[in-house]
Amino acid sequence: MNFDLVIFDCDGVLVDSEVISCRAHAQTLARHGYPITEAQVLERFLGVSDREARQTIEREIGRSLPDDFEAQVKEATLKFYAGDLRAIAGVAAAIAAIGLPKCVASSGTPEKIRHGLECARLYEQLSPHIFSATQVKRGKPAPDLFLYAANEMRAAPERCLVIEDSVPGVTGAVAAGMTVLGFHGGSHCLPGHAEKLLAAGAALVFEDMRELPDLVGKVAQKPGLNAGFSAG
Ligand SMILES: [Mg+2]
Repeated sequence: MNFDLVIFDCDGVLVDSEVISCRAHAQTLARHGYPITEAQVLERFLGVSDREARQTIEREIGRSLPDDFEAQVKEATLKFYAGDLRAIAGVAAAIAAIGLPKCVASSGTPEKIRHGLECARLYEQLSPHIFSATQVKRGKPAPDLFLYAANEMRAAPERCLVIEDSVPGVTGAVAAGMTVLGFHGGSHCLPGHAEKLLAAGAALVFEDMRELPDLVGKVAQKPGLNAGFSAG
């Protein structure tokens, strides 16, 4: 294999957490007088920054949300994790089948990443190689977290393979000089998501985590592979 390290994003790649965040967001908004469904949050606000989402909602309801609104959403999310969070189907077996060093690079706080991985029973498999955006100055889409993780794991960026499900994540990994596989099998992925990941620079996209070990071999054999090849 041509890679020395595989870097996994957490939300939407290891754990199917995005739909749960949307559920928590919807429930918290409803409590503050803005009735909205989980599906509507997903469609309108997934991938939108907290600040931008808050501004949109405040404009629509004509008043401010409480200062700690984002903290309330976070608290509700973690509460839902314990009962509802699942690993992405097939990911534990895929991790076990890839015979390369692995680590996690996530935008979440260390507590949130750990809690999520524990709920999904993946923590033991990946600990202690878990890195959080709180450890660097700029989060995704900046390359900082990927470069930090690679450096900590003693791997050159060009020998790192990143598994990402979001456009900011793919963008950051590409900016770090790494090869990216775009995963679009999470419950939150809407039609057209794969195309967005390719446009952001993913070398290829896939929908079933069970394909990952083979894809790692495939993309490694084609170091010059660029955007435009879809496995799914
Ligand atoms: Mg993600």
